[in-house]
Amino acid sequence: MITVKNLHKKFGQLHILKGIDLEINRGEVVVVIGPSGSGKSTFLRCLNRLEEPSSGEIHFEGELITGKNHNINKTREKMGMVFQHFNLFPHKTVLENIMMAPLQVKKQAKQDAEAFALQLLRKVGLEDKSGAYPSQLSGGQKQRIAIARALAMEPHVMLFDEPTSALDPEMVGEVLEVMKELATGGMTMVIVTHEMGFAREVGDRILFMDQGVIIEQGSPQQVFGSPQNQRTQDFLSKVL
Ligand code: ADP
Ligand code: MG
Repeated sequence: MITVKNLHKKFGQLHILKGIDLEINRGEVVVVIGPSGSGKSTFLRCLNRLEEPSSGEIHFEGELITGKNHNINKTREKMGMVFQHFNLFPHKTVLENIMMAPLQVKKQAKQDAEAFALQLLRKVGLEDKSGAYPSQLSGGQKQRIAIARALAMEPHVMLFDEPTSALDPEMVGEVLEVMKELATGGMTMVIVTHEMGFAREVGDRILFMDQGVIIEQGSPQQVFGSPQNQRTQDFLSKVL
């Protein structure tokens, strides 16, 4: 579904991504782990070109999306993204937040958008919050709404950048639970997280990134159970 070839990203003189090669299959759940500053967010943001790659290629569903004339907005509709901070619109209700992109971008009929939004609210366990405003929700609830909002566009892949890092500990589980259900339902997902238990349980493949390269990748059993690289071992010994 996604092929990344020799991806580099520089910010001025800073060489952040130093040649990433990766293939992600449809339905696969890829979890990216690694130390802070290793380029995980930059990599994720390059996938939908929120950051412009300095060189290299990204193909999505057979299309070169790093080409000069590619309409990235069309591609972004198929790539849902959830950030550490929820970025919900504060003056809109939960339902309006979820319906917004389908109405404006997909030009869906209001009835259809609303019906789907309510269905998504059920999916994330918040059907009673449709009329609430973001300020009336807990962090965990806001993040579940952010996931529902991304799903409203019926994306083909979901990108998560540390979706639980800003949450109080007691709210982490409810968000991971929603993500787990998505994974079980066959969604293609790329997830940056420090939740190692979740990574192990839900990931089909674990990537360990350090200093802008993928140092090691494999099944959770391989990477967590018998990491081959010294840097992976050092990192895991600190976080496990
Ligand atoms: P991670 O998500 O793994 O913590 P990031 O991708 O956020 O790492 O950052 C990798 C490096 O790139 C860091 O040193 C960070 O300071 C730098 N960086 C990220 N975004 C920018 C930017 N817009 N301008 C300059 N440097 C940046
Ligand atoms: Mg990051």
